[in-house]
Amino acid sequence: MNHPTPPPCPATSAEAFLAAATELLGPRGLTTDPDRMDAWLTDWRGRYTGRALALASPASTTEVAALVRLCAAHSVPIVPQGGNSGMAGGATPDTTGTAIILSLRRMNALRDLCAETGQVVCEAGVVLQSLHEAADTVGMRFPLTLGGKGSATIGGLIATNAGGTQVLRHGTMRAQVLGLEAVLASGEVLDLMTPLKKDNRGFDLKQLLIGSEGTLGIVTAARLRLLPAPVGRATAWVGLGSIVEARTLLRRMERALGETLEGFEVVPAHCLASVLAHQPGARAPLAERHAWNALIECVSPSKDSTALAATLEAGLAAALDDGLIADAVLAANDTQAEAFWALRDGISAAERAIGPAMQHDISVPVEAMPEFILAATPAIEEAHPGTRAVAFGHLGDGNVHFHVLAPAGAVRGVWEEADGKTVSAQVYDLVTKWGGSISAEHGIGQMKVDELARLHDPVALAVMRQVKQALDPGNLLNPGKLLPALPVA
Ligand code: FAD
Repeated sequence: MNHPTPPPCPATSAEAFLAAATELLGPRGLTTDPDRMDAWLTDWRGRYTGRALALASPASTTEVAALVRLCAAHSVPIVPQGGNSGMAGGATPDTTGTAIILSLRRMNALRDLCAETGQVVCEAGVVLQSLHEAADTVGMRFPLTLGGKGSATIGGLIATNAGGTQVLRHGTMRAQVLGLEAVLASGEVLDLMTPLKKDNRGFDLKQLLIGSEGTLGIVTAARLRLLPAPVGRATAWVGLGSIVEARTLLRRMERALGETLEGFEVVPAHCLASVLAHQPGARAPLAERHAWNALIECVSPSKDSTALAATLEAGLAAALDDGLIADAVLAANDTQAEAFWALRDGISAAERAIGPAMQHDISVPVEAMPEFILAATPAIEEAHPGTRAVAFGHLGDGNVHFHVLAPAGAVRGVWEEADGKTVSAQVYDLVTKWGGSISAEHGIGQMKVDELARLHDPVALAVMRQVKQALDPGNLLNPGKLLPALPVA
């Protein structure tokens, strides 16, 4: 089944399209000014830069629907974009300049926030951090967070089925979305916002759209679940000798802390050193260097921080007595806990400052992750002399960011396209051999289109193509992302 990229809009048609779009959206809603578009044409990692016919910023679902119909009439491809914090180049247009960026950032209203029902209805452009702050004002919390929370939007988080650092307890974005509103390629509005706890009227279309990376529909609003704000919080930074010991500690902490265990992140010595070198004011939590560090957080809506800290401390003291861990420190207050998290969240930015790297957000079964890291690290470093492989992140979810740093002197933008691609292919081969996924949370975007086509189950790929064909026969929505554009037969 073919998904050819729509033929480029001829010049006269492009002018007609821009005139009609300007009339529809007004000057605030549409720009072709290179200076205003520039920041949105390159992805967060700086790996992809595209061109666009225009940057459209509709202010309502009605405007999004009308714009999609206009794009369809003029064969103008649409690249949906939220905060542009995505890690797979999914929100960056290609270099032809024929597509528009459809930014949802102006649609940032909280339509309804109710502590009693534990639900919030918000537009797609609401920034994650703003949602956290709004929930806090009514004694609630939104139980998903990640390093890009200051720019990632609800629409983008849904489109990528984002994970983050609380998945261990609360699940990914799929678990947080109770209802969804989206504009389809036809320009119709799919309204799935009814807050039904049970609903078996056929396919769960909301789940189909979650994680579809803007290729099946444009998310305009969502109903999300909220939880009571935590009463207590305890956070610890732990030094360990090996990743195998980190897994043992994870299992122990799961038993000791039960439901309150919310985060279990691992940080190797190299990543911590990078953050300490690049983040102003960063300080190492422990006096000694350890091959591995674990950041553990437990949170409770009923127990206070003192009680939680006592349980966490007892668990860590036992691990210390047994020689499982080398050292540990509990955060004395929220400020110190945030400082620990800043070290974890700062890894991507620190690494970006160091030089080129290939990033792989991969998953294997939780139990197999330490052995995978121990096997894959030397395999990659030996096959690609001068590289350094580091794995950090969500051990508790069986998901780490397996990054391969380029040899010294490698040129950014050149190494990735040559040697870097070979490195990635080898990493993905290993992951597949270990029964894992080449994308645990960042999605496929444009970065992994070829690898998905190469390694994913052919039956699953064929079904995905059929779904795309059914919902977007003209390949209007985010062409070239997630699924490869096949040659016209
Ligand atoms: P964008 O980057 O703008 O878009 C991402 C994709 O979604 C694109 O394909 C785009 O076309 C599509 N899209 C955007 N909005 C819509 C919409 N309204 N409708 C349909 N499609 C849309 N992610 C994790 O999962 N876990 C992490 O731990 C994590 N840590 C991060 C740390 C840092 C420092 C940064 C910068 C990012 C991190 N991310 C993480 C990645 C990122 O925050 C997520 O991918 C986020 O979900 C993207 O949201 P966005 O609004 O920026 O989307």
